[in-house]
Amino acid sequence: MNSLSPAHLLELISGSYQGPIAYINNNYRYLFVNRYFENWYLKNSEDIAGRLVVDVIGEKRFLEIRSYMERALSGEKVKFITLSYNKNGEQIYFEQIFHPDFSDDGSVLGFIAMAYNISEQVEAKNFALESELRFRSLTEVMPQLVWEADENFQIVWCNQNWTALTGTKIEDNLGNGWLNVIHPEDRLYTLQIWEEAVRLKSSGATEYRVRMTDGSYRWFITRGTPIKDNSGNIIRWIGTATDIQDQKNAKLIAEQERTKIYSLFMQAPFLIIVTKGPEHVIELENVEARKYFKGRELNGRKVREAMHEFKDQGLVQVMDLIYLTGKGVNLSSLPVQILRENCLFKEHYADIFLEPIKDEFGNTTGILCTAVDMTKQIHAMKKVEESEIAFRNYIESMPQMAFIANKNGEMIFFNKRWHNYTGLDFLKSKNWFKESIIHPDDQEMTTKRWDQSIRTGTPYEIELRIRQKNDQYRWYLSRSLPLKDLAGNVHQWVGTLTDIHDKKEIESNQGRLLQILENTSDFIGMADLFGGIYYINDAGKNMIGISEKKDITKIDIRNFIYDEDIKYFEEVIIPTILVEKKWTGDFRIKNIIKNSEIWVHCYVFTTHDERTGEINGFATVSRDLSEIKQRERKLQDALTARDQFLSMVSHELKTPLTSLKLQSQMTLRKLGVNKEISQEKQMSTALQTNHLTGRLNRLIDDMLDVSRIKTGKLKLEKEHNEFVSIIKETLDRMALLIDSKNLSFPQIDAEEEIYGVWDRFRLEQVMSNLISNAIKYGKGSKIDIKVRRVCDQVLMSISDSGMGIPKDDLNRIFDRFERTVHSSEISGLGLGLFISREIVESHGGEIWVESELNKGSTFFISLPLNL
Ligand code: ADP
Repeated sequence: MNSLSPAHLLELISGSYQGPIAYINNNYRYLFVNRYFENWYLKNSEDIAGRLVVDVIGEKRFLEIRSYMERALSGEKVKFITLSYNKNGEQIYFEQIFHPDFSDDGSVLGFIAMAYNISEQVEAKNFALESELRFRSLTEVMPQLVWEADENFQIVWCNQNWTALTGTKIEDNLGNGWLNVIHPEDRLYTLQIWEEAVRLKSSGATEYRVRMTDGSYRWFITRGTPIKDNSGNIIRWIGTATDIQDQKNAKLIAEQERTKIYSLFMQAPFLIIVTKGPEHVIELENVEARKYFKGRELNGRKVREAMHEFKDQGLVQVMDLIYLTGKGVNLSSLPVQILRENCLFKEHYADIFLEPIKDEFGNTTGILCTAVDMTKQIHAMKKVEESEIAFRNYIESMPQMAFIANKNGEMIFFNKRWHNYTGLDFLKSKNWFKESIIHPDDQEMTTKRWDQSIRTGTPYEIELRIRQKNDQYRWYLSRSLPLKDLAGNVHQWVGTLTDIHDKKEIESNQGRLLQILENTSDFIGMADLFGGIYYINDAGKNMIGISEKKDITKIDIRNFIYDEDIKYFEEVIIPTILVEKKWTGDFRIKNIIKNSEIWVHCYVFTTHDERTGEINGFATVSRDLSEIKQRERKLQDALTARDQFLSMVSHELKTPLTSLKLQSQMTLRKLGVNKEISQEKQMSTALQTNHLTGRLNRLIDDMLDVSRIKTGKLKLEKEHNEFVSIIKETLDRMALLIDSKNLSFPQIDAEEEIYGVWDRFRLEQVMSNLISNAIKYGKGSKIDIKVRRVCDQVLMSISDSGMGIPKDDLNRIFDRFERTVHSSEISGLGLGLFISREIVESHGGEIWVESELNKGSTFFISLPLNL
């Protein structure tokens, strides 16, 4: 066969080829161009051959394609599109191909440049591009993410939504770049899905998590659809991605909710069983339900078989009825027997709710059974009831009247004692506060206090009078206590009414007794075992000198015992009381104000604890002995005085009587021996006898006078008298005595005669006393008598300068038998001044003395004239 030369071959091809062809060597010179090329560049092909490319196509164009040429000369097959203008100035698109020409040694000699007019194709493509741009701009406003991939599923474009959401640029997503924003865990299966879609040439969809600009992931669903050409080849993939995070969330929540409800359902603390169909096949049962039917298979079984014990208890029949009627049933506190694993029945009380389950057409398809085990509550209630009964029985058995009220204070129960006592039935008793069985005086307080207690929850205690059936009122102590539950809330009140009538009576008696105690003049006191006083009546307080208002509690009793008697108190009185439980006797307490002793006649006895009977202290009733003691002393004094008087009288009487006896014996003896008694002698004896009998007479007169004075029988016979003459007469009668004492006769210093109405005899008696005293105790001193009239009184004084009287005795000497000297020194009865005072005072006058021991005394008399 004839082989064609390469040049010829090139000639042939280039002639048939509808486009420019050229051969350019590695020096950028045209070695060959075809005719089309000539047409194109309006130059002869011969003119072109051998010329440099730059010279033929111009420098601008040369620079545009230079890089492609270099690549071809380096051995690469280069393909690119250029835009040119034809002779008519029309745009022509060329696809240019530079095909390198290798020498045998592999070096590039040049390249063949071919251009193909693709203007039509380009236009068609531009049109497509335009529609695509429109499509793309449309997709930009779509809320979805839109992407586009080539036939091999390499992304070529994505809309702004995608880039904005993922914080990427379009370029980042091209090819497989988009995988970078897909969650690592989702990449592999996503790719696999698309590979599968490409393989099957069908749409694909997948869910994956896309990383947002903030780094978080959101779930998207993406769907891709292939776009095919006429022959069914895929040319593009168009896809969208939609954010389904919210749906996912909602789904997740719904899922969680469902799980939660289910677990609630399963874990509910009561039984739940769902049955299906007329045979009640158990479809669902919760944990609690399983517990009650331990060891049995429930699910999928009929109730009548799985819970066969219910057949006889009517429960299955009830379920049948519900299924039939479509109406639910509530059974409360139903006793239910459940057969246990140990084959024994156990009784439960249950609140059972049976509800039909219906389909959308209202037909019953099953039953929802819920059951709450009330056994414990029922038992507790029974216990409460039992304890309530026990409580009422207890209240019934109480010795008092009693009632129970609710927390609002409304009466709910009274014991029989109440009804018996009041004669009221329960209805009337309910309002007993308002009934007239409460004494009118106690009614207001009772109601008020009760309301107060109910309001505040505080115990209630009051004394009130309640009327008996027989209309008699008796005193009662009404007490109410709130009963509280565990939480501390009052739920009931229990009240008792205790008869305190007798106690009240005693109390009022005690009140009277107390009055007596307070008003008696005796000392009444009580002390504890240690001597701590806790009661002293007012009289007692007065005695010991403390204020009636002073609180004496706990003051030691020893504070009020006379110091010298404390020892006696502790060593005699207390031990005696402790042994004999009482002591009676006299001892001294003291008045702490006056610091003086008080003799008391004391009765002390022990006091006892009312309950135990043990000695808890002692009490005393003591009487002030001061007066008695004083009287006793006076009596004693009187007795002593009487004895003294007797001894004085006997002494005084004995002296003259002895003398008289001696005288008469002597006379008798003389007469017996017939001896002559001279007249002189006889005279002297008679005088002496007269004197002695006179003295005896005076003594007896004095004594008579004293007894007259004592018995109030000293009568005065008052007459008109002249005072000075009375003194004179007295002195005259005493002249012998004065004389016998060798005294100078007393002088009367009187300025005038003084008249008055007096008992002359008695005044003589007074003066005789005073003068004879002045003689007796004047030690022979001169006696001065002075008389003066002062106004309507007469004043007389008799002075001596004798032994005088001690100061302390100045008053005493005017009392009976009072003397400052002893009878053995100077005889006397100590009655003269006593009688004188009585006489003077009987005249309405006064008698007194001024005296100084060993210097003398002056006795004064003042007498009203009584004219
Ligand atoms: P009598 O003289 O019998 O003792 P009176 O009643 O006359 O009884 O006197 C009572 C006492 O008064 C006397 O015992 C004496 O101690 C005292 N007395 C009376 N007069 C005087 C006097 N003039 N001087 C001193 N003592 C006197």
